[in-house]
Amino acid sequence: MPTSEGYSFFGAVLANFDKAAKFTTWDPGILEQIKQCNSVYRMQFPVKIGEKIEVIEAYRVQHSHHKTPCKGGIRFSTTVDLDEVMALAALMTYKCAVVNVPFGGAKGGINIDPKKYSTYELEKITRRYTHELIKKNFIGPGIDVPAPDYGTGEREMAWILDTYTSMKPGEIDALGCVTGKPVSQGGVRGRKEATGLGIFYGIREMCSIPEMMEKAGLPVGIEGKRVIVQGLGNVGYHTAKFFRQGGAKLIALAEYEGAIFKEEGLNEDEVREHRMKTGSILHFPGATNIARTAEALELDCDIVIPAALENVINGKNAPRIKARIVAEAANGPLTPEADKVFIERGTLVVPDIYLNAGGVTVSYFEWLKNLSHVRYGRMEKRFNENQNRNILYQIEKLTDKTVDGKERKIILHGPEEEDLVYSGLEETMIGATHEIIDTWKANPRIPDMRTAAYVVAINKVATSYTELGIFP
Ligand code: GLU
Repeated sequence: MPTSEGYSFFGAVLANFDKAAKFTTWDPGILEQIKQCNSVYRMQFPVKIGEKIEVIEAYRVQHSHHKTPCKGGIRFSTTVDLDEVMALAALMTYKCAVVNVPFGGAKGGINIDPKKYSTYELEKITRRYTHELIKKNFIGPGIDVPAPDYGTGEREMAWILDTYTSMKPGEIDALGCVTGKPVSQGGVRGRKEATGLGIFYGIREMCSIPEMMEKAGLPVGIEGKRVIVQGLGNVGYHTAKFFRQGGAKLIALAEYEGAIFKEEGLNEDEVREHRMKTGSILHFPGATNIARTAEALELDCDIVIPAALENVINGKNAPRIKARIVAEAANGPLTPEADKVFIERGTLVVPDIYLNAGGVTVSYFEWLKNLSHVRYGRMEKRFNENQNRNILYQIEKLTDKTVDGKERKIILHGPEEEDLVYSGLEETMIGATHEIIDTWKANPRIPDMRTAAYVVAINKVATSYTELGIFP
């Protein structure tokens, strides 16, 4: 559906692509191949809900096969349509390329409001959707690997896994057919919070670069930054948590029923508890109510983080946004018109295809764990601890001093799965930050960070296609 600005969501992704393609030297045919969605599967299937038969509309789009498997989440929402799924699948291709995750991009969606169904009904819908994917060979550890997205989580991924494994008995790598699973079902520790943690690592790195902070007109460092988070789902909640723990101040939190403001800072856990008890984020003790969620985005702050759905900041409200940094935790929260406003004004927009790639990065770690059939840290943890103990023993002997308490524990500690996942994610986000900034610096005509990130992505996907020999 075109927006008031004349773009559909996929149209906006195409516009961003074209804007960046001008800064590359690839053959127009290669660029066209990268842009389009390779395979589109639209399905309708009946599910008995109570006494009635409901016809459910669903999709899976594989945007690119330059690497396999394809990868991307599954969304349960009434906003789901072909255009949205195509746009989100394309973003997955670019996202994976930016963070060097060797997957093609894909996305799935079911057009339902999950709140209207019982757990049993949701399970029936999810299992039937998985059957449809299996029938058309649209799922598998080497084909296409779904994950959570808006409206889905570990529970849905466990249903997908169970449906897949029951249909494919004996498939040795079947656990890798879906990621974002519960740890007890082959999930990896750290996946749930991965997108939020990646956003924190990315912005912390940006905030440590004096040149970038000069651009944004803010002091270096994350400490004390005044932050607004819109959306307290899995991504928003964990983003808020890591920012607060990292020394930032959550001055406002927004949900669809409204928003709350507190200059001294909010605690995401207390707010979540209050929302669970009262059914609303509003009337949180000590905070001021903001009736309209959209208004919260316009409050004075350093960093605004849209962490819900697409198109929330557009040509109309962008001129009223006061933040110096817009951090795209959601997929596609800004329209191309909003980008124009921010480029003119010098507001630093940190783009989704880089910033929210933490989820798929840790999905990649989960998939690797499933294929290797061993938990991270299992082979080396004890070995490292013994090594550390021996080294520490020698140092203590030579210096005649002992290391006690917390320090001793830190030095002796061998890596657990969560430690390895966190450090792998940190390395990925820091590496991607500098790759994008270096590309931006190398071509000062590139107008914004989004375009620089697209240039990085296009170059990688195009290189992969040409090296495959598809284009002589
Ligand atoms: N749905 C998430 C995203 O949009 C994660 C995808 C994945 O882990 O495959 O990035």
